[in-house]
Amino acid sequence: MEKLVLASNNAGKLREFRQLFAPLGIELLPQAHFNVSEAAEPYATFVENALAKARHCARSTGLPALADDSGLCVDALAGAPGVISARFGGEPKSDARNNAKLLEAMQGRTDRRAHYACVLVLCRHADDPQPLIAEGEWHGEIVTAPRGTGGFGYDPYFYLPGHGCTVAELDDAQKNAGSHRGQALARLLERLSRTDGGPKTDRAA
Ligand code: IMP
Repeated sequence: MEKLVLASNNAGKLREFRQLFAPLGIELLPQAHFNVSEAAEPYATFVENALAKARHCARSTGLPALADDSGLCVDALAGAPGVISARFGGEPKSDARNNAKLLEAMQGRTDRRAHYACVLVLCRHADDPQPLIAEGEWHGEIVTAPRGTGGFGYDPYFYLPGHGCTVAELDDAQKNAGSHRGQALARLLERLSRTDGGPKTDRAA
């Protein structure tokens, strides 16, 4: 597999995935390159939305498609914003509005724990009966004031106690090394190397 379509138009995700795929000799093309419309994401779970996006993209392009569905899950908010992270602040999508709404929802809360979740689905073709699925989680805390200019989305408010900084204060390489997306991709690639593009009997991981 040398060409893979990314079922997303999110510039931040595309940049991160390109960096993660670069060493593998796999060319990652955004779905916009093929004029693929955005798939609906009506489901309550990341995995269902990621599968819908990957299948839609593979069907529209005739190429293998990788979809990421990811988001921020805050403990004190029962996992919200979760699957609606991109649109938490309403339409059209806006990181600034999402962060403002997050801060408002977190006002007065002492439990600041949260995690980023990512589910990756790779459909080798639209009717792939065994898409490869991998997950990653990155744990941290929501802070009250933004710090840093890197990353995207909620990163300026997502503090990593182990690093002593927010995700927006990490450089791209540091973020990719630890992030929910980086973890999920490492798992996906490990599976891909074992399946060698086709189903094998041992798919447990
Ligand atoms: P999706 O494109 O429907 O998967 O929505 C993902 C949304 O989750 C993004 O628009 C961000 O709001 C949030 N998100 C996912 N990953 C990250 C990240 O690495 N940093 C900051 N926000 C993220």
